[in-house]
Amino acid sequence: MQHTSKLPNVGTTIFTVMSTLATEHNAINLSQGFPDFDSDKKLIDLVSKAMNSGCNHYAPMRGLLELKEIIAKKFDALYGTSYHPEREITITAGATQAIATIITTFVNQNDEVIVFQPAYDSYQPMVELNGGNIVPIHMRASVDFKVDWNEVREKLNDKTKMIIINSPHNPTGSVFSKEDMLTLQELTRNTDIIVLSDEVYEHMIYDGLQHQSACLFPDLKLRTFVVASFCKTFHNTGWRIGYCCAPRELMKEFIKVHQFNVFCIHHPTQKGIADYMKNPEHYLGLPGFYQQKRDLFLELIKESRFKFTPAKGTYFQLLDYSGINQEYDVDLAKQWTIEKKIASIPLSVFNADGSDEKVLRFCFAKKEDTLKRAADILNTI
Ligand code: GLN
Repeated sequence: MQHTSKLPNVGTTIFTVMSTLATEHNAINLSQGFPDFDSDKKLIDLVSKAMNSGCNHYAPMRGLLELKEIIAKKFDALYGTSYHPEREITITAGATQAIATIITTFVNQNDEVIVFQPAYDSYQPMVELNGGNIVPIHMRASVDFKVDWNEVREKLNDKTKMIIINSPHNPTGSVFSKEDMLTLQELTRNTDIIVLSDEVYEHMIYDGLQHQSACLFPDLKLRTFVVASFCKTFHNTGWRIGYCCAPRELMKEFIKVHQFNVFCIHHPTQKGIADYMKNPEHYLGLPGFYQQKRDLFLELIKESRFKFTPAKGTYFQLLDYSGINQEYDVDLAKQWTIEKKIASIPLSVFNADGSDEKVLRFCFAKKEDTLKRAADILNTI
């Protein structure tokens, strides 16, 4: 008996491919985005404490109220807007599950979903799994990954069900400006389009830039799911915990799918994070923390043959190798992992058309020593 999945043409994710290759060849792994340092001991202790004090059965399906209240307060303090903790916020098993569930809830056969590419790798397969079609809008390195909003306007039609945005943006490290968000708000006004705003890197934004959350724009907020991640913010990517927020009518529909998908999320982790977030410094310090790492990395490789524009957000730095050679980025990323002992992510895999602009993505969420060793290698290339 032979069966194929509903995603017959999808291979293993590039993150798994590159991390596995890095381990096999003992290379410095700046490919998959995760820190090589541990989460704050205080947070680990709070989760252990929760586990030792009986938070071990089902949490409420939408998430622990205590945690959702803290999140609601955070929105209020940072963005001056409110989400109802019980009706408009749901804790999820990481942002990727929130994204998968949002798409599954709303995308039907032949619906169109606008995706800005290069794009995080889970968006397209989830749309296709649900019978939808992605409509790619390309952001090119040569124009600093700026969105051509006229092209977006031209692509909108009555089949457009959803627009997925991601700022700060993985993999490019670019960010949407206030003008970008206002244009998006304008373009979607008086339509039924749902916006999925992947904001998992909200606290990784540099050089004094402000994160333009979709919730800051009142008309946009009405149609938007804001998706966020604790794993990115608190340096524990393996914990798989995040959340999403949306107006109650949208959230009510999301919950119908969520309850049969994961039902509820790891209870002690929710309790531990709720206690930890009582101190906002734990996330407000993040831009400074990561900017220092970005700056160190770029200072160390400033004499190298790579060309770069400093990342405005995320913990990813793109390096353009077109001045070094013209090889296909996927081959080069693999070759350098094996031969130079440094792993990165080739950018072309994030483009549906596979277009290759000779750019690799490097994750700088690493200890100083790791960044120095990585730079030593990059400087010899
Ligand atoms: N978000 C991480 C990255 O972009 C990886 C997530 C994953 O491995 N699925 O590298």
